[in-house]
Amino acid sequence: MTDSLARELACIDCGTVHPLGYRLECEKCRGLLELRYDLDVLRARGPALLAGGGLWRYAPVLPIADPAHRVTLGEGGTPLLDCPRLSKVLGVRSLAVKFEGANPTGTVKDRSSATGVAAALQFGFTATSVVSSGNAGSSIAAYSARAGLRSLIFAYARASAPKLLHMAATTADLVLYEGVYDDLITHWDRLVESRLFFDCGASRNAYKHEGKKTIGYEIAEQSGWRPPDVVVAPVAVGETFIAAARGFREMRDAGWIPRVPRMVAAQATRANAISRAFRSGRPLEPLKIGYTVAEGLAAGNPGRKGEWVLRLLRDGRGAAGDAEDEQILEAQRTLARTEGIWAGPTGVATLAVLGKMLAAKELDPAQSYCAIVSETGLKTEAAPPSRAATAFDFDSLERLVEQRLARA
Ligand SMILES: [Zn+2]
Repeated sequence: MTDSLARELACIDCGTVHPLGYRLECEKCRGLLELRYDLDVLRARGPALLAGGGLWRYAPVLPIADPAHRVTLGEGGTPLLDCPRLSKVLGVRSLAVKFEGANPTGTVKDRSSATGVAAALQFGFTATSVVSSGNAGSSIAAYSARAGLRSLIFAYARASAPKLLHMAATTADLVLYEGVYDDLITHWDRLVESRLFFDCGASRNAYKHEGKKTIGYEIAEQSGWRPPDVVVAPVAVGETFIAAARGFREMRDAGWIPRVPRMVAAQATRANAISRAFRSGRPLEPLKIGYTVAEGLAAGNPGRKGEWVLRLLRDGRGAAGDAEDEQILEAQRTLARTEGIWAGPTGVATLAVLGKMLAAKELDPAQSYCAIVSETGLKTEAAPPSRAATAFDFDSLERLVEQRLARA
């Protein structure tokens, strides 16, 4: 069993170093914290350190010390799918999709739920809580159940029926909230201080956040430790984006990969606070937002994580873009038709943004791309195709098969 090489927490603003423990902010300046690892060991041992499959293959670069706390439902190890037909549609040399819909609850959230709930066990908590547009709620509920912890899930009342069903099945305490994520999260973040529950939110907890770093490690390892030129990541408050970027930096600093990919932040136009700030070169301003089909991206006030994303974009020659709901739904259909990958709207926002930025010549089609597709389409709620049905005898069946297949 591999030991965790986590050594300390460091403030991303003032650099103050704190010992490992349940701590959400810097004591000096209230800045966000990031985990730091023993780079000497990472450098000396290289990827040979890794053992086993799935998310916990990367246990040396995750902050969970005791293997008994490493809760799992089989998350991670999702496919990196080369997409030649979609590449042609988008006019790009090479595009791979990192399909996070293959995770146990169908979304990338399972990575952070695994380390978040494991950290709740590590720090002796008996309950977890999260405010969610749907995916995080169902994931935290499932992982908490798996770990034998009580969960209190606050879910967006407009979340899709499959998401609500899944949450109701896995948690005893499901509370629906009105309004969007931003309306509740500020109050909930304050309540975290009471320590009645373990913070499984996206705003501050470095331990929870950390699981998503494995998406960067997997993209690198599945590419033979030569990651693509550009990685497009979805951004609501920025957890996946920041974690993936940190993973790539860590691997570069440890000499596992030659260079870090350029990171592109993808948002829904109806919740585009970060893309708007980046593209205009202005400070981050919270937006009052309404509904977007990309439910998981519906955050108008990404707060300090949003500032962190902007800093990474500005320091790391990144790029940002956003797509309208119609473009997102179009990308969903195109991905399904061209590659057989059925993803939800939140998941394909990256592809919609990539297509838009390529068409606007903001990105170079000669580069290699990886788009993180963060959720399955199986949790989407939409009107099904027409249910008009036909009865057949042998002759009519034969005629139909011949006609249909002759069409191609
Ligand atoms: Zn600080």
